[in-house]
Amino acid sequence: MPLVWLIMPLIVFIFGLCIGSFLNVCISRLIHDESIVFPASHCPKCRKKIKWYDNIPVVSFLLLKGKCRNCFERISWQYPIVEILTAVIFLCIFTKWGFSRELIVYNLFVSGLLVIAFIDAKTTFIPDVITIPGMIAGLILKVIFAFIDKSFTNLFDAGSGMILGLAVFGFIVIVSRGGMGIGDIKLAGLIGVFLGLKNTFSTIWLSFILGGIVGIFLLVSKLKGRKDAIPFGPYLVMGALISMFWGENILNWWLGH
Ligand SMILES: [Zn+2]
Repeated sequence: MPLVWLIMPLIVFIFGLCIGSFLNVCISRLIHDESIVFPASHCPKCRKKIKWYDNIPVVSFLLLKGKCRNCFERISWQYPIVEILTAVIFLCIFTKWGFSRELIVYNLFVSGLLVIAFIDAKTTFIPDVITIPGMIAGLILKVIFAFIDKSFTNLFDAGSGMILGLAVFGFIVIVSRGGMGIGDIKLAGLIGVFLGLKNTFSTIWLSFILGGIVGIFLLVSKLKGRKDAIPFGPYLVMGALISMFWGENILNWWLGH
């Protein structure tokens, strides 16, 4: 086996950890409405600037035992979780698609999805700053690919996936009268552009199943009451991630082929 096939997965994984670290910054700063570029990383409690050696993904969290070096404030588990999650998904994308156009497109897509899922879980709010530009960027990419490939099949697929996502969740928002947020409509549209018609279909079903199971558990265990807002974005994101890798298999299984 050539050495590159041993080294490349490691490089992809470390790259994923670094991107995950950046996604953490995006999550925290979008929630607090701060700039993503400035200021430099700082402790949210004592505001002290974090040195580069205390900012290494996962490693620094372990060395500091999850506490700020200056004020000993606990660092959220969100940081290592997002870093490892990003790295693992990037590695899965690389394993499935190798060096390809999909590698770049899906890495960008997943980065956006992870930020949305964590912000929605923490605030029950899905940032338009990601969903709307993401949808436009996705469509532009599909148009460029259509001209490169001299085939419009994938562009039509992206367009119909987007319409399916927007229509299904638009309908749910109207019927549920505020039970589901407007942000979920745009998130479903974004997923539609990147995954196309079939995988968006499987994403929607999976999100209902996953959201239903967790929702019932939360109600039965009395962790949440009937009136509590339960963010749906994380389930859409989970459904999209599963469909991205196994959507075709799931649909074939459902349809009994
Ligand atoms: Zn501190």
